[in-house]
Amino acid sequence: MLTNSLVELDRQHLVHPVSSFRGHEARGVRVLRSAKGATVTDVEGRELIDGFAGLWCVNAGYGHESVVEAAAEQMRRLPYATGYFDLGSEAPIRLAAALAERAPGDMNHIYFTLGGSDAVDSTIRFVRYYWHAKGQPERDQFISVAQGYHGSTTMGAGLTALPGFHDGFGVPYAWQHKISSHYLYRNPLGDDPQMVIDASVAELRAKVAAIGEDKVAAFYVEPIQGSGGVLVPPKGWIKAMRDVCKELGILFVADEVITGFGRTGPIFASAEEGIVPDLMTCAKGLTSGYVPMGAVFMSDHVYDTIADGAGAKAVGHGFTYSAHPVSAAVALEVLALYEGGLFDNGIKAGARLMAGLESLRDHPLVGDVRGRGMLAAVELVTDKDKKTPLPPEVQPATRLFDRAWDQGLIVRSFAQGIFGYAPPLCCTDAEIDAIVERTRAVLDITLEDPEIRAAMR
Ligand code: PLP
Repeated sequence: MLTNSLVELDRQHLVHPVSSFRGHEARGVRVLRSAKGATVTDVEGRELIDGFAGLWCVNAGYGHESVVEAAAEQMRRLPYATGYFDLGSEAPIRLAAALAERAPGDMNHIYFTLGGSDAVDSTIRFVRYYWHAKGQPERDQFISVAQGYHGSTTMGAGLTALPGFHDGFGVPYAWQHKISSHYLYRNPLGDDPQMVIDASVAELRAKVAAIGEDKVAAFYVEPIQGSGGVLVPPKGWIKAMRDVCKELGILFVADEVITGFGRTGPIFASAEEGIVPDLMTCAKGLTSGYVPMGAVFMSDHVYDTIADGAGAKAVGHGFTYSAHPVSAAVALEVLALYEGGLFDNGIKAGARLMAGLESLRDHPLVGDVRGRGMLAAVELVTDKDKKTPLPPEVQPATRLFDRAWDQGLIVRSFAQGIFGYAPPLCCTDAEIDAIVERTRAVLDITLEDPEIRAAMR
């Protein structure tokens, strides 16, 4: 009864993000009610393992009372403080200092946002301001990577390179350019890592030359491309791209909205690659999804250039909820939990997850298994030699998601027929094993689909 009325109210009034409005009306919502650890429970009492940590964000897992208490304590004492007018509050100051201490190199300056998209948008504004401050306002062209995702604000959606975020929205803008993705499994050049690295370096150089070397402002990368299908670059790819940017004098922006906070093992994936970006974004795991928050990290030279360029003038970029004290208090407590054992557990669980998913390679539908730490994907094909994607009639995004749900598992199911995994770092061995077993069950059931059987013939 409760479910029916909620489904109906949802259908009539709630607009869902990145959804087919009509498709959602027809399918109806599944209403979640509570969660603990890595398990979520819906309103009918059905328990599922959340193999995607909400939306790759609940890295610490659900139900930490200390996080709830940190938020409540902050709300009771000081629920809000603006950062305008030289005001501030303790939690964001302590959080900025803690993050600067843990960030790669000299990324000592932190600007807090409400999530990942406005963090990316903020970097675009800061990059433009930086080049104006340097007396080179003509550097106003941006480059990102095909299959990349950099959020859903108008400017970020243009850096994003997924057509679904462009069609009908009038983006990308003319100043937003792309180079090809590394996508090792489907790279037309093959999967030799060095060849792929060399090709990306050559393409970036060629793109910069074509735009004009003195016109390019910044290059954006995700250390692992998430929403494009969990695409892991070959080792050395990011370092090579960072080096080209340094040589050509282009700002390098690492978008760590997914990869930050232990998702791939260390606190930031950039550190793992041994690089120091000029700017970096994060969100999601920053507060583990308990409340919204994102951040922009600026290296000393970016901050100082903007500061000196502005002089006594205000740098006109800010939100009412920049550096929100409740979000910061939550982030500080989440950081304590991560460093109190969750990062270590994530590394152990990530190794088990990757080994488990690798064991699925023998399945007739599995073309590729890839990932790092607690961020992974299984790509389904109907012909392993030809790497034939699942037929569109199967509608992988909804059908595979539904099948996993029926097995008691939530995983991301990409339209191309790719399962994406990003479980909470708190997962036990038994939960990781269940994620793998339930995935195998979904694969076995899917193998019986008439459309799949026809495509395999
Ligand atoms: N950047 C990357 C790499 C992301 O994966 C995302 C979200 O998935 C964003 C930016 C946007 O973050 P948000 O959804 O918090 O606005």
